[in-house]
Amino acid sequence: MLRTLEERDIRFVRLWFTDVLGFLKSVAVAPAELEGAFAEGIGFDGSAIEGFARVYESDMVARPDPATFQVLPWETPDGEHYSARMFCDIAMPDGSPCWADPRHVLRRALARASEAGFTYYVHPEIEFFLLTDLTTDGTPPEPADSGGYFDQSSHDAAPHFRRHAIEALEAMGISVEFSHHEGAPGQQEIDLRYADALTMADNVMTFRYVVKEVAIKQGVRASFMPKPFSEQPGSGMHTHVSLFEGDRNAFYDSEDPYELSATGKAFVAGLLRHAREITAVTNQWVNSYKRLIVGGEAPTAVCWGHANRSALVRVPMYSPGKASSRRVEIRSLDTACNPYLAYAMTLAAGLRGIQEGYELPPAAEDDVWSLTEAERRAAGYESLPQNLAEALAVMENSELVAETLGEHVFDFFLRNKRAEWDAYRRQVTPYELRTYLPML
Ligand code: GLN
Ligand code: MG
Ligand code: MG
Ligand code: MG
Repeated sequence: MLRTLEERDIRFVRLWFTDVLGFLKSVAVAPAELEGAFAEGIGFDGSAIEGFARVYESDMVARPDPATFQVLPWETPDGEHYSARMFCDIAMPDGSPCWADPRHVLRRALARASEAGFTYYVHPEIEFFLLTDLTTDGTPPEPADSGGYFDQSSHDAAPHFRRHAIEALEAMGISVEFSHHEGAPGQQEIDLRYADALTMADNVMTFRYVVKEVAIKQGVRASFMPKPFSEQPGSGMHTHVSLFEGDRNAFYDSEDPYELSATGKAFVAGLLRHAREITAVTNQWVNSYKRLIVGGEAPTAVCWGHANRSALVRVPMYSPGKASSRRVEIRSLDTACNPYLAYAMTLAAGLRGIQEGYELPPAAEDDVWSLTEAERRAAGYESLPQNLAEALAVMENSELVAETLGEHVFDFFLRNKRAEWDAYRRQVTPYELRTYLPML
């Protein structure tokens, strides 16, 4: 690392961490300060970071994780210097981990899995929009292209954008498996190659930063807002997950018709049983729930299936007989979640299923979008929460979420998100004015 800093004449190393809502924070240090940063960490005022502290215990220390050192793939605006970044773990002045640090929440969940012998691997399919501009006056944004699913529309911004974005990600050690135009105009998808959950959460944070930056360089803007257009599908972050015991994929069983082991089934059962409780974490914004509606291939009911894209959890059959790729796909997450907390919660729910030996209900092979509310209830499929208030009400009573997030993050999250809901529900929307004013 020190050699790279010297050879590439790097003047700033950005120390990155993430607040409870999933926003990337950064403090830049000069390379000369790094030795001290490794020895003692860099002190900062945690009270100014969302969710980090009560004011009387605000001193915190950022401790860089050298394994995450990467040079940013572009130079400073004057064209001369590159900078580098490292993710940090946040500690209290006495050296104990900070309970508000999402990286710590995930590390703790991973440690529990590891006690049971498991490593958690994930790979996300990240969807987002390219727009000509980010409007803030309430007018609908304009997509940066007019493509549709898998279109190779070489005349507009997207293909070049994806190539530049992928080159930048690869330059930072983030492997991309797959990318294509998604269903809506301006909508893109980039799928990352699987990694352990902590590395992947760091990668997702880097991804959002890099994609927004590359978009600006290409004269467009990127947004991870879950549902910017009423009439188009939203942006999800379908997440494929598996547990490994050493080199062995614990989800694989060649004897099962779907090659899913008893461990895999219990994991899915855990995801389903706790799905409603963890939705506030996987879908954390008022706007997230505008995506979770019938149509647009987003899940609305708590069920699982194979080819069934209306299911919350899908057990895909892409490469039969290949043990290492047996995985399950969780389709609720959206691209604007906090990946550390979302991975911690999905892991905790699945692990609970394994540890308590939950029984997996039968697969839903019917298209659950086309069922009426009554038919769904008869089939035993609960609905996912329909808005943030409902999701918070279910989460509030969840011992699993309180235990996994820890009391501090749990309380902060509920308080912050209730305030968000409250601000939203007071608003008289253009929809109401259009509909009610002429009629009532
Ligand atoms: N955009 C859809 C969602 O919100 C997914 C579409 C797809 O990848 N099939 O989940
Ligand atoms: Mg996909
Ligand atoms: Mg997709
Ligand atoms: Mg998918």
